[in-house]
Amino acid sequence: MEFVAQICTKLGFAESAFIVTGSRTYEVAGHRVIELLKDSGIDASHCLVSSHTMKDVDEVEARILKAKPQVVLGVGGGTKIDVAKLSAANQNVPFISVPTTASHDGIASPLASIKGSKKPYSVMAQAPMAIIADTSVIVQALHRSAASGCGDVIAKFTAVRDWHLAHKVTNEYYGEYAASLALMSAKLVAKSAEIIRPGNEKGTRILLEALISCGVAMSIAGSSRPSSGSEHLFSHALDMVLLKPALHGEQVGVGSVMMAFLHKFNWRRIKSKLEKVGGPTTAEALGVEPQNVVEALVKARTVRPERYTILNEKKLTYRSARQLAKKTGVI
Ligand SMILES: [Zn+2]
Repeated sequence: MEFVAQICTKLGFAESAFIVTGSRTYEVAGHRVIELLKDSGIDASHCLVSSHTMKDVDEVEARILKAKPQVVLGVGGGTKIDVAKLSAANQNVPFISVPTTASHDGIASPLASIKGSKKPYSVMAQAPMAIIADTSVIVQALHRSAASGCGDVIAKFTAVRDWHLAHKVTNEYYGEYAASLALMSAKLVAKSAEIIRPGNEKGTRILLEALISCGVAMSIAGSSRPSSGSEHLFSHALDMVLLKPALHGEQVGVGSVMMAFLHKFNWRRIKSKLEKVGGPTTAEALGVEPQNVVEALVKARTVRPERYTILNEKKLTYRSARQLAKKTGVI
């Protein structure tokens, strides 16, 4: 964190910066970032956001337009980073990501997830110019965030399989390098599941590097393909079905267990890794009704029709979806 001003200056942003943060993340890291920038003579203004809707993006854009900063910094968990990333992209201003949690791979990806936009999934924004991830700050976040981040990384086991399947069936572009990078991240996090524990900075670093690699994989592929397959479609469908969804990575982790079953991949291993890091693997642990899981499974295929996945092959009905959730112990 203490290098924030140095990094901005090195990148050519020595004059002005605009910081998007939340009220809680302002206390955790936002105010420190502002202080450090001001101490180095960088004119730093900021705004607080509490949600990630199109209205938030519009409001932040208006502030950016007025302040005309050289760079926008998103300081916080996923929502603040998403709002900062998209509003900066819309205003053609470079963006730096300063995550305070390791809850999903949006901290390093070129995509942003915004509520109330026309699409229920992430939209292309811009890749961050830099990611300043301070493990000593992130390790202090609730472990639930890290467990969610593990779910988002372990989900790449099924996301990459879906991508490869789409390539075989529809001849869609498949990038070996981006796919390998995403898979490697999933393997490393699975291998390190035992040390991704509350307060373990080494485990936090491994998770962060994996999330960043997944973000880079998306930049290389030019889409979210290496990071987002049928398990993400399940999570997006769950977001649409529920009034109060669980965390993104928690949902895709559970989705990945069920999609691995459909792919005839080792779903039990995915499940045990999620359990090891303390992530949910059942509807109950997600805090949702079994019926919601079944509904989301059936709906998933329709969320993003152009994205070919294992769901296009299996065409789940209410009956087969229920069976799938039961066989994998989700309900
Ligand atoms: Zn994700």
